[in-house]
Amino acid sequence: MNIEQNCRKVESTVEAACLAAGRKREDVTVIAVTKTKPAEQVEELYRLGYRHFAENRLEGLLEKQEALPQEDISWHYIGTLQTRKVKQVINRIAYFHALDRPSLAKEINERAEQPVSCFVQVNVTGESSKHGLSASEAVPFIQSLESFPNIIVVGLMTMAPIDATDVELRQCFKDLKIMQEQVAALNLAYAPCTETSMGMSQDYPVAIAEGATFVRVGSAFFAETEA
Ligand SMILES: *Cc1c(COP(=O)(O)O)cnc(C)c1O
Repeated sequence: MNIEQNCRKVESTVEAACLAAGRKREDVTVIAVTKTKPAEQVEELYRLGYRHFAENRLEGLLEKQEALPQEDISWHYIGTLQTRKVKQVINRIAYFHALDRPSLAKEINERAEQPVSCFVQVNVTGESSKHGLSASEAVPFIQSLESFPNIIVVGLMTMAPIDATDVELRQCFKDLKIMQEQVAALNLAYAPCTETSMGMSQDYPVAIAEGATFVRVGSAFFAETEA
């Protein structure tokens, strides 16, 4: 196994999942999650055609951005962002996947030099160890963002519980999709909410079946390449 073979496997899995769900391949964006991986491996993914990359630490983001071409990559920030780090991160990324509290929204709005595409993170199953707003908090939170011109809610994001059964997993993704459509139906100019960021290496085919438009795939690209 190497990265190129892993890529082919991911691509054929994505294609098969799209086909089975009657969806177009171009409606699903694979984000390569490169946190903790060396820049050379990220460069290989770039050579293989990937243009969406995600990091979850400022240091990792800076390192990879320095090493890779600047013109045509969309950088995503996933995972918890401390309020005090917002000003260093927010103007370096195209998408932020972890908007989950008013203080963070306020800081992003103040520090962003232009509107930032944000996913509101929802803890669909209410699992206590996870970040994200509960299902009932999400809509009021999104409505409270109206006064923040630098925040565009492009969609909702979730992480499924690690120990979820297949049935629970599917339900989790279904519920996020329904919530996304409910927010979209509100027709809020600052929250088009057309996207869902869901599915990781373990479960992205299920997420695609349930309507994911962005899947966040990390370890599947790097399996058995770490010495
Ligand atoms: C690490 C991470 C991923 C990717 O996980 P894999 O299991 O390696 O595919 C996706 N989303 C978030 C928020 C992550 O932190």
